[in-house]
Parts: sequence; C-alpha cells; structure tokens
Amino acid sequence: MSDALPIGATIGILGGGQLGRMLAVAASRLGYKAHIFEPGSDCPAGQVAHAVTTAGYEDLDALAGFAASVDVVTYEFENIPTAALDALEAVRPIHPGRKALATSQDRLVEKGFLSGLGLAVAPFADITGEADLRSAMAEIGPKAILKTRRFGYDGKGQQRLDADSDLSQASAELRGSPAILEGFVAFSHEVSVIAARGLTGEVAAFDPGENLHREGILRTTTVPARLSAAQRTDAVLLASRILTELDYVGVMGVELFVTPQGLVVNEIAPRVHNSGHWTQAGCAVDQFEQHIRAIAGLPLGDGKRHADVVMENLIGDDMDRVPGLLAQPDTALHLYGKAETRAGRKMGHANIIQRR
Ligand code: AMP
Repeated sequence: MSDALPIGATIGILGGGQLGRMLAVAASRLGYKAHIFEPGSDCPAGQVAHAVTTAGYEDLDALAGFAASVDVVTYEFENIPTAALDALEAVRPIHPGRKALATSQDRLVEKGFLSGLGLAVAPFADITGEADLRSAMAEIGPKAILKTRRFGYDGKGQQRLDADSDLSQASAELRGSPAILEGFVAFSHEVSVIAARGLTGEVAAFDPGENLHREGILRTTTVPARLSAAQRTDAVLLASRILTELDYVGVMGVELFVTPQGLVVNEIAPRVHNSGHWTQAGCAVDQFEQHIRAIAGLPLGDGKRHADVVMENLIGDDMDRVPGLLAQPDTALHLYGKAETRAGRKMGHANIIQRR
C-alpha cells in the first residue's frame, strides 16, 4: 500500500470514449480525479471527468502539460502514436507499459510474442506484397484472413479469403500497408478472459465470458461461458502468463477461440475491454475499478463472480430498446452520453442478471 496513489490524486486517461468514461467513474468512486486527453469535443468521458484536454496526439506541448497535471497516465485504446508516448513517459509513468503497447499495436509482433510463449495461435505469415500473399495462401490457405498489421479494430482492415479470391485485388486493397495472413480457425465459439496485474505483480482474473459478434462488432457477452473446467483453468493460466511476461500493470482483455484441440489465442487488448462490461453486474469489483486499483497501486479485487450475466451492446438503432430495457427486471443500463446515434456506433450496453 505504501506506493499507492493518495486519495485526491489525478489519473490521466488517453481517450475520451465510453471506456474512458467508465474508468473515470471508477476513479472517482475510489476518491481520485480523472483528467481526459481527447482530440474530439464533447466526449463521453469528458462529461464525467474532473478535467479535459482537447488536443491531438501530435500536439506534444499539450501532452506534456497534460502529463504534468496528472499522477499516472493510462489509456482506453492501444493505437497511441509512439512520439506521444515518449512525451508522456518523460513526465509520468504510463500503465500498462510500453512493452504491452508495442506488442498489441502490431499483429505480427503480437502473434510472434504469443507463439513464443508456447501458446496456440492461428497459423500466420508476414505479408509485404502479392508474392508473399500467394506463397502464404499456398501454405496456410485456402481459407484465411488477411489483416493489416496495425490500426485494425472491430473487424476493420480485414479481408476474408478463400480458393476463389482474387489475390492481386486483395493485395492492392492493402494499399501498401504491411499485413499478416492468418489461417482460418474453425472454432466452435469465442471467449475472452479479462485479467489484471497489480504494481507488485499479483494477478486476478475474471471468469471467462462467451462472446457473440455480428459484422465484426461484439453484440453479447454471456457468463458463464461454455467451457470445461480444464478449459476455464487453461484460459486463466494463459492470461496470467501473458500479463507476467509483459510485466503488465492494469487490466487486459485476452480473446480466445475455442476449438476441439484447445484454446487458440486470437488477440490481446492492453486495456479494459467491451467483453468485460458484464463484471459491473456480476462482480463486487468490476473491470474498471480493477484497472484503477492496479495502476494506483491498490490491492486488486479477487474477480469472483456472484451472478450469471448477459451483457448486450446497444449499437445504433438499438437505442430504441431503451424504454423496454428500463422496464425489464434485473437489468442495469449504461448509456455513454453520445449525442448522435449512428449505425454501427456503440451507444451503451445493458447488463442483464440471469436468475437461476
Ligand atoms: P479480430 O479483429 O482479429 O479480433 O477479428 C475479428 C473477428 O474475426 C474475431 O472475433 C473472429 O470472429 C474473426 N476472426 C479473426 N481472426 C480469425 C481467424 N484466424 N480464424 C477465424 N476467425 C477469425
């Protein structure tokens, strides 16, 4: 506890979206202040924070001023430019640290890291042009996914390929971006583990959740996930190995494919994760409080689950369901304060406790 941030300290959060918003609320519940750094105006996190800096990630003076006004820096998204991180780190500690960011920002580095730990990942190949793509397809195709190495999220920057695909066109669509080709994993379902590691190295994991995606966007997370006891243990142990290897501080989301041969790691996210929102209704200490506890040097919650929960994302017109959800028993609603509803935009979520 001696290195813990004192009450009243300020937590700097890069990114003003819904994850930043829920982190700011958790920080405030623990007696801290939150200062948000975000290029856009009227951001969801800014509405609930103590202070907001509205500036771009290329504005190094604004970043230095922001860093000087906070006690620790964290973030809600992983694609933070390196120069911005350098400017911040010169002034204040950043948690989770650079190793986790560098690993998760680049799918090729990430796959190399995970397979280096001996964890199962999809077969993959580095793609820098059409010739690479042709030889990689011959080796790990025909069913495969071509992904840009950087800046992909919610299925963006991905092309599904098969034996009939026009590889010249697929390669042209990358527009010179470095990419990886991944063999298609025949999974039965997708799960994720949300785990945390504290400043002194202790690890706590939440129960794995089962995730359903549509059009590349997470729709629901259900806990408990369909997993055997052995798979559940595997999932938690592998997450713990990843955190320890990265000397990680904070919450991480680890996405997994469930296959008859075992768990295959899809990707890691060095931050609180949409598939961990269920913890708000299912655990005494949710993922947002857990993250703030970790980076503030406080003891972690134990991650124990006290209820079965289904988390439903409210995307675009799903907002029409709000009156019905408000009338529904055992349902907690979280709306993100976004003024404009747009197709594909995450507007909120509902946590629905499942009574047995
Ligand atoms: P990602 O952005 O890598 O998480 O991919 C988004 C979604 O695409 C995943 O949640 C899976 O449903 C699917 N997907 C990604 N990679 C693979 C793969 N190698 N094999 C099968 N499905 C995949």
